[in-house]
Amino acid sequence: MVKAQWVFDGGRPCLDLVNTLRDRHRGGRELLTSPSALVEWLVLAGLLPRPVTAPADSLAVAIALREAVDRVARGAGRPVDVRLLNRHARNAPVPQLRIDGDGVAHRRLDAPDPVEGAFGTLAVDAIDLATSEADVRICAYDDCGLRFADTSPKRNRQWCSMSRCGNRAKARAHYARTRTRGR
Ligand SMILES: [Zn+2]
Repeated sequence: MVKAQWVFDGGRPCLDLVNTLRDRHRGGRELLTSPSALVEWLVLAGLLPRPVTAPADSLAVAIALREAVDRVARGAGRPVDVRLLNRHARNAPVPQLRIDGDGVAHRRLDAPDPVEGAFGTLAVDAIDLATSEADVRICAYDDCGLRFADTSPKRNRQWCSMSRCGNRAKARAHYARTRTRGR
């Protein structure tokens, strides 16, 4: 399996998808480099129960969905992005009830195709996000560019994650302070 530098700090699956293009401020570093990388991400994101062979065009579909999600999440969605999200959302798995011989009820999610179903779930999540109270922010660290949903009580979260950019920023501020003092 591919071992990419996935990050799951977006707070929502659809923003984690957006963050599969890292370093957006520096032109972008693509982590969705192959259909198998896409499948690895979908499994790790909990959107596929097990690896499957993704159709060859699924990578391009995922990237088009990802960029539409990003524009909509940043309030820059175009009509074509809205149509794309709505089209994918129709493939989201729907709960199906099954009652076995002992009368026990089981809930199963039904999707036309596992990968299309995962795209549907991501589109529904993006629609939920766009119509929610959460603020979508971009990490304040210079070159990071990761997106996250700010649900902090004061809506003042700055970093995609404290352990990555928060600490980098603190270390840099400390370095700047000690250098000024040394002069
Ligand atoms: Zn960051």
